[in-house]
Amino acid sequence: MQPETESRKTVLSLIQPTGTPTLGNYLGALKNWAAVSNDYDCIYGVADLHSITVPTFRENPAQLRKNTLDLYALLIALGIDPEKNILFVQSQVPTHAQLAWILNCYTQYGEASRMTQFKDKSARYGANVSVGLFDYPVLMAADILIYGADYVPIGADQKQHLELARNICDRFNGIYGPVLKMPEPLIGKAGAKICSLQDPLKKMSKSDDNPKAYVSMLDEPNVIMKKIKSAVTDSEAEVCCREGKDGVNNLMAIYSCCTGKTNEEIEAEFRGKGYGDFKTAVGEAVCATLEPIQQRYRELITDKAYLEGCMARGAEAATRLSQRTLSKVMKKVGFYPPARG
Ligand code: ATP
Ligand code: MG
Repeated sequence: MQPETESRKTVLSLIQPTGTPTLGNYLGALKNWAAVSNDYDCIYGVADLHSITVPTFRENPAQLRKNTLDLYALLIALGIDPEKNILFVQSQVPTHAQLAWILNCYTQYGEASRMTQFKDKSARYGANVSVGLFDYPVLMAADILIYGADYVPIGADQKQHLELARNICDRFNGIYGPVLKMPEPLIGKAGAKICSLQDPLKKMSKSDDNPKAYVSMLDEPNVIMKKIKSAVTDSEAEVCCREGKDGVNNLMAIYSCCTGKTNEEIEAEFRGKGYGDFKTAVGEAVCATLEPIQQRYRELITDKAYLEGCMARGAEAATRLSQRTLSKVMKKVGFYPPARG
């Protein structure tokens, strides 16, 4: 995609600090974050407000803080320059929650009830389902609309939420005039949905209870090899992309994203060979992709003062920028301007 010449477009995306990002997060979203970061005005964030929608950190809030710092460092390590882009932590930017409240009042209960992520996650957390989890997509709409983002690089699992953000945008503008910018998703083809290594019908997720289901971006090479080798496939021993071969299709997508090879090239490479050779090649390609990122991460994470300085500057820039939309919205709905004290 080429950048527009008249004015640079804005790209926005967030990721939750619910755990170390997986290969799915990287191939589906983060790789794209880094790829577009020189051509657009990019605003990226660690979505810690989203991470308290599930009970994971209630017993251990310090873990959430640690995950936030680790994730912030990893985002820099994978190629996002905090001097050239805005890289912030969501809870340090108060405008997101402010706009989310307002947008709640322009979101219909019925449309929010149709979100499949809520259905999946609420089934998992049983009696511990918060209103925050239900409201997650409205906060996500606020994250996007508050910066007037043109493009949102996401994996396919977030498509429905982006669609909701677009509906909220349309509704708000229908009442008050063109206040909010309509965002477009930016979804890659091959990595859009990387599936679980243990259940290839489910997406790979960093909060999966079974660590064998995902490759974490910081897994050691021997762990990566082991996880890929124990990935669920089928009994055919034929490396090809076909309906019903979900495990093999998933490994082919991973291999293709890491090497740039097409499905046809991969099928030719492994014709007559078994899954053992194929899995070794996939494991090695994943290790080679992640190794330079891991190395840079290990250097960065020792410099907490530098990371916290970047966070503070990111939060300040994000607050300043997002205040513009919030002020316009507040005026439109009939509020007094923010009190200056
Ligand atoms: P959680 O289980 O806590 O929701 P997650 O792995 O779904 O974690 P998120 O922080 O919710 O990660 O999502 C970050 C980004 O990664 C989003 O853009 C999302 O669309 C993308 N993403 C998540 N899982 C995958 C996947 N399996 N394949 C491709 N992209 C993915
Ligand atoms: Mg998710």
